[in-house]
Amino acid sequence: MRKIYLDSAASTYVSNDVLQEMLPVFTTDFANSASVHNMGTEASNLVEIARERIAKGIKARSASEIYFTGSGTEANNLAILGAARANKQKGKHIIATKIEHPSVLECLKVLETEGFKITYLTADENGMVSMIAFLHALRPDTILVTCMMASSEVGTIQNIRAMSKVANDKGILFHTDAVAALGNVPINAEEMGIDLLSISAHKVYGPKGVGALYVREGTKLQPIIYGGGQEKGLRSGSTNVPAIVGFGKAVELATRDIAINNQKCKQVRDYFIKKVTETIPFIQVNGHPMQRLPNIVSISFDMIEGESIVMLLADAGIAASTGSACNSNKLQANHVLTAMRLPMNLIHGSVRFSFLKNIQIEEVDYVVKELDKAVKRLREMSPIKRSKLAK
Ligand SMILES: *Cc1c(COP(=O)(O)O)cnc(C)c1O
Repeated sequence: MRKIYLDSAASTYVSNDVLQEMLPVFTTDFANSASVHNMGTEASNLVEIARERIAKGIKARSASEIYFTGSGTEANNLAILGAARANKQKGKHIIATKIEHPSVLECLKVLETEGFKITYLTADENGMVSMIAFLHALRPDTILVTCMMASSEVGTIQNIRAMSKVANDKGILFHTDAVAALGNVPINAEEMGIDLLSISAHKVYGPKGVGALYVREGTKLQPIIYGGGQEKGLRSGSTNVPAIVGFGKAVELATRDIAINNQKCKQVRDYFIKKVTETIPFIQVNGHPMQRLPNIVSISFDMIEGESIVMLLADAGIAASTGSACNSNKLQANHVLTAMRLPMNLIHGSVRFSFLKNIQIEEVDYVVKELDKAVKRLREMSPIKRSKLAK
């Protein structure tokens, strides 16, 4: 059976160039990077090369602003919990959006139990956070704003600079979850006025279990993990040297090849959207029509369940998903589409297709053919369809 992977927003494979850089670190350069002997120094040098590559990739002013973590989730935890707790004497109000990743939303729930007040901004029908709502939400005791750079659910890219400018002027810290944006949107942490920025390796052809937080020089954070004081005391735990080396290489490649990867991916994406739209009736493409990631397409199919479509596609060797991977085994309405106020039938009928960088047009043809078959079959059985068409 064919195998077509359309779930790159959940995870990517490790590219061969990345793997080759990692391999010797498991067996030869395996020392603890904190050890003072030569082998320790060599491991430490590898970590610093990776830090430089990542700083360059997101245009940080200095490599010393990059802190390695165990995941994108941990980077978000450190940013949100760390910034809120370290700055609470200035105020306890935070502005966030309803469309954040669970690793942001769940931290905010914890902070609410610690007496912080959170204002959650909604998104419009294109998944765009409203600038007017943001300006209205500002308070004298606001200490932190968090808004993702691009949505891993519907692909909408936010106007980060417009928001960060206001935050910068008022001395409010600005955090962005750039996990889905990295490698797809050019990032310039310095020029974009960002204080805290989270990224992860396994969405950009690096290994799982490693992420990083960009912390603008001078930003106060309280650690969330305590121990040996690695990462200048901000993230204790023996440094995961092979993963970090892979992460550094992955970011170097993803940011170097961004224009060419984007162009290829956009072509396939637009072809896919055109074909699906021409072939299958009663559908809606979600997300912003222009300001969107090249690799993510969310589509709602009226009258049927997204889960059923994903299951039939799986039978045809196609991997797609409903909602985010972390939620998709709970039968719960997707929180991003809910915030965008999609009607219930379109929320439940949504499927996310996210492309790998080497997706082929010919693969898309097969996907659309199988998708059309699946949708027809499910609609045949759908009681909703029968009652809708009877009207
Ligand atoms: C995947 C993802 C995360 C979490 O990163 P992990 O490294 O998997 O913990 C956070 N935010 C967004 C937008 C993501 O897509």
